[in-house]
Amino acid sequence: MKRIRIFERDQYRCVYCGEQFRPEELTLDHVEPRVRGGDRSDGNLVTACMACNTGKAHRRLSEFLRDSAVARANFFRYAVHVWPRILRALEDDLARPDGANGADVR
Ligand SMILES: [Zn+2]
Repeated sequence: MKRIRIFERDQYRCVYCGEQFRPEELTLDHVEPRVRGGDRSDGNLVTACMACNTGKAHRRLSEFLRDSAVARANFFRYAVHVWPRILRALEDDLARPDGANGADVR
């Protein structure tokens, strides 16, 4: 099952808070949201706990990471399986001083 495979890959660790959880407390999070064209490939999926996924809500990932230095540090430390092009786009977005109108992560 894909969920479990991704959780195992990420060692049952939420990429945003860095804590480890039981599988029933975890969710699969799309780095690029599906509504923005993100797919279901492994490199677009990360493990997130329910609290972090709820906290992120439907914001763009760059907005969520901009608001939380902890989540940002953890994400770049633990989300090592995310496609490099997505990570680069995210870093570009985060480097933008205004942020609010940054480009989509793609
Ligand atoms: Zn979390």
